[in-house]
Amino acid sequence: MTCDQAQGLIPLYAARALSESDGAVLIAHVAQCTVCQAELVEAMRLGHELRAAFARLPGAPEGTWLSVAARTVGMPLLQVDLGSEVAGLSLSVGATRTGTPITGSLSILGREMPVLRI
Ligand SMILES: [Zn+2]
Repeated sequence: MTCDQAQGLIPLYAARALSESDGAVLIAHVAQCTVCQAELVEAMRLGHELRAAFARLPGAPEGTWLSVAARTVGMPLLQVDLGSEVAGLSLSVGATRTGTPITGSLSILGREMPVLRI
């Protein structure tokens, strides 16, 4: 592994977003390279400071999530549409007072047919 490759992976390692096998290869390089050791120490310090800063942020005021839930009842939470003018598939997740139904429909030449309701 070159220093350029190692330094490209160091931010991912510091963010705990690197696979175990890639991390092992990176650490094998860092163990032999003082330049990359300094980069890793700095990235780890920065990552630690960022996590600590986020941990100090106050949470949402009490009642916020209930307020959001009350305002989103009946609204789609997620909708995914795939396709073209000829055929398409639409999936959506809604919010009701009793749950989050998932529905899907298939459209062919503009004609929509429900195919899923959970
Ligand atoms: Zn290096």
